[in-house]
Amino acid sequence: MLGMMMDVPLLVTSILRHAATYHGETEIVSRTAEGPIHRTTYAELWRRSQRVANMMERLGVKPGERVGTLAWNGFRHLELYYGVSGSGRVCHTINPRLFKEQIAYIVEHAQDRVIFADGTFLPLLESLADRLTGLALVIMTDEATMPRSDILPNLLCYETLLAAESEDYDWPDLDEKTASSLCYTSGTTGNPKGVLYSHRSTVLHAMASAMPDALALSAGDCVLPVVPMFHVNAWGLPYSAVMAGAKLVLPGPRLDGESLYELIEAEGVTFTAGVPTVWLALLEWTKANGKSFSTLKRLAVGGSAMPPVMIERFEKQGVTVLHAWGMTELSPIGTVASLTAKYRDRPLAEQLAVKATQGRPIYGVEFRVVDGEGHDVARDGVAFGSLLVRGPWVVERYYESERTSAHAIEGWFDTGDVVSMDPDGYVRIVDRSKDVIKSGGEWISSIDLENIAMTHPGVKEAAVVSRPDEKWGERPVLVVVPAQGASLSSADMAALYEGKIARWSVPEDLVVVEALPHTATGKLLKTEIRDIVRRELGREGDGMEAAQ
Ligand code: AMP
Repeated sequence: MLGMMMDVPLLVTSILRHAATYHGETEIVSRTAEGPIHRTTYAELWRRSQRVANMMERLGVKPGERVGTLAWNGFRHLELYYGVSGSGRVCHTINPRLFKEQIAYIVEHAQDRVIFADGTFLPLLESLADRLTGLALVIMTDEATMPRSDILPNLLCYETLLAAESEDYDWPDLDEKTASSLCYTSGTTGNPKGVLYSHRSTVLHAMASAMPDALALSAGDCVLPVVPMFHVNAWGLPYSAVMAGAKLVLPGPRLDGESLYELIEAEGVTFTAGVPTVWLALLEWTKANGKSFSTLKRLAVGGSAMPPVMIERFEKQGVTVLHAWGMTELSPIGTVASLTAKYRDRPLAEQLAVKATQGRPIYGVEFRVVDGEGHDVARDGVAFGSLLVRGPWVVERYYESERTSAHAIEGWFDTGDVVSMDPDGYVRIVDRSKDVIKSGGEWISSIDLENIAMTHPGVKEAAVVSRPDEKWGERPVLVVVPAQGASLSSADMAALYEGKIARWSVPEDLVVVEALPHTATGKLLKTEIRDIVRRELGREGDGMEAAQ
């Protein structure tokens, strides 16, 4: 027997409709690509999204077709999210930090009909001119600041287009499984792969990620997504924060410590989210300038492991750190490290140990940790294996791709991460399966070694990669960026590891560098770091001395 409840589809439009109706006066504050601060409200966002939807008709974009964006976090990008998806088109966010060749590949693969770009990205568009033929290019600004281009003479001006459109629009009654947005994920090898989200997956992810033991978003919050809207929809915050009716602060292109601090204090930000490198810069800036946070309550971090020493620095300033794990393929949130009741009264050190894990699965995502034969490993916080997940906001297959190898066990998505899980469900990421170090048959977690290195005051950033070794197969190598004015020796490092981990997993080699390479999404670029190590250590094999 079927239930007798209304079959109302879960559409992203319903999120904005709710915010505009019940939080209509709540502000959206943006730092524009041109520089000045811009203020609007959910009521206005709703009206402008209807204009965007009408603009789709005018530009001749048919339902289901892809609309590219090359844009920072800002109000125009937000109205594109809603206007494009809500009208049945697919909002394809393009990561401008990818290599030019990858961007061209993505635009062609997605068959984008239009690209909406911030003026900042005009040089990028110009450099891709011969690959962008046959699609409309719209610069997201007004006539006053509209750039001109000899290479791309037919650029359209966003505000001029919008001004010509009606504010009335009849949103279509879409099937909730209709595609709403598209984001490509790039590994270190092969072409990027498209993850095509649906209205249903987006709404469900927003609801689950806003729950109290996840990001705990409410109408009382002021939310600053530092994580870009061009990477996994800024972790869904343009949906979840809007659903909650929170004030939204969008930082535009200025993501340095000083600019973020100013915005946090000026707008009364209570919640923010981003990758560890952004928070490292913010911590360094506040320390150097003797500043503390007066309104910030919670800070979500993910994309890479957050070193416990950084978690502690925020917590000591009264900011609760929510360490989260996710993937583009998971919309992206899978786990959040909030404290269960039994940890709430424990000493800070014990709480910090829990917060340094990647957290517990949020409702909606099922987890399995399996060994090489596909058997589930013990949930004891020690045994580790490959993490498989399934759920309504997990990718089933990639967009227009034959690649299905991610499904090692039918119906489960293989994340490529190696993890352990404790009896309470706290997950610890040991490594990406391709980065894990196997020494003498034992696995060494590069993340564990990096976290310890980061506790040294002379270390600004640390990476651990493997080098080949005749006797042990692989050995870990520590690569560090020293803090300003610090000098580091291999003896310092050996002393730091003493007593903290098994002797055989201590790296014997130290490479000191000025900067570490990162991917377009802020992760340590381990393939390139392995190349640096190969060059610096000069030779492969055993018995290497520390290179400094
Ligand atoms: P992306 O799809 O670009 O967001 O990358 C997803 C990958 O980032 C995951 O499979 C993990 O390897 C890594 N990742 C995400 N969050 C964390 C975290 N909190 N700690 C360690 N690795 C993480």
